[in-house]
Amino acid sequence: MSQTEQAGQHRFCPRCRSVTVKVLSTSPVAGVWSVFGCATCLYAWRSTEPDENTDPDKYPAVFRLKPEDLPNLPVAPSIPARRRSGAG
Ligand SMILES: [Zn+2]
Repeated sequence: MSQTEQAGQHRFCPRCRSVTVKVLSTSPVAGVWSVFGCATCLYAWRSTEPDENTDPDKYPAVFRLKPEDLPNLPVAPSIPARRRSGAG
């Protein structure tokens, strides 16, 4: 399988369905595996993972994200206030 064929199968991000998918890495032996990453939601996956991790139609609905919702997601974890020196 050529890198072009693999990229075609992974054209859409499984999590947010954006087309901002890039090949992050490929196997030392050509065509064995590739690592893809989504520039929109930062999801990353390997070409060798099961369909539920790589196919937008089989990715679990509860974990899907909408690109338009990303700016409104809470940032976690928050950084706690700094302790006073010598306390506790
Ligand atoms: Zn994505």
